[in-house]
Amino acid sequence: TKMNCRWTLRAAKGRWMVNISQQCSHGSIGLFVPPSPPLDPEKIRELQRFITLSKRLLVMTGAGISTESGIPDYRSEKVGLYARTDRKPIQHGDFLRSAPVRQRYWARNFVGWPRFSSLQPNPAHWALSNWERLGKLYWLVTQNVDALHTKAGSQRLTELHGCMHRVLCLNCGEQIPRGVLQERFEALNPTWSAEAHGLAPDGDVFLTEEQVRSFRVPSCRCGGPLKPDVVFFGDTVNPDKVDFVHRRVKEADSLLVVGSSLQVYSGYRFILTAREKKLPIAILNIGPTRSDDLACLKLDSRCGELLPLIDPC
Ligand SMILES: [Zn+2]
Repeated sequence: TKMNCRWTLRAAKGRWMVNISQQCSHGSIGLFVPPSPPLDPEKIRELQRFITLSKRLLVMTGAGISTESGIPDYRSEKVGLYARTDRKPIQHGDFLRSAPVRQRYWARNFVGWPRFSSLQPNPAHWALSNWERLGKLYWLVTQNVDALHTKAGSQRLTELHGCMHRVLCLNCGEQIPRGVLQERFEALNPTWSAEAHGLAPDGDVFLTEEQVRSFRVPSCRCGGPLKPDVVFFGDTVNPDKVDFVHRRVKEADSLLVVGSSLQVYSGYRFILTAREKKLPIAILNIGPTRSDDLACLKLDSRCGELLPLIDPC
């Protein structure tokens, strides 16, 4: 279901509307999930065999698992939702150096937050959480920053690129929940009652220069700038976290990739480790991946359609 939508923003000097001419989605997943062939019963049986034989299964997930929750995948890849200044991905160095870049980033993030934070796990997230509960899943690594695995109850989890639901101070390192920051934004910008009625097809948020310049961004108690706890372009994953995941991969006996094309090296390197260890690798992703030739099993199905069909016992 597509429809036109608009954001209503109330500014200090009266009220104006921002019309978003692009088409938007209202809870429809069709817009974000690529088309896939119908489920092949033989493929389902092969994945079932793979899972049944696994005793220490490591699962790595990417943007493809969250499209069925309404998140366009090309946005969460690498940098996370709303991690852009207008059309360009935000650069870690620019964010650190420039107060105007941070102001623009947070204004957009503020507008997008109500929808983003309300997104819910889909059957694929619930299936993996269930596998953990039943002792099937040894460890879960995600490249996503949407917290949907946590919302589904997964605990044996590493968020490789961090999480949008946490904010940290670049000066003293203090962490606060993103929801708390939203309240501070609202208090500092009382006339900025922004309501997102949907998401543009590319998930973008449009704001004028004037709007951005009027947006007030709070600092940490120490005066330091705040940043979401996610890895932007030009930044690297914490080496301790990388080592930790390498150890989990080496302890595992099989690897299942769910919804990732493995184009990003931060995830791909664990495939290389699994390959070195000669672990069997299965890949569930609509479309080709960087590691199709390393996989003993490749499935082009919707994650939320296929995973709940697998018996983890
Ligand atoms: Zn601080």
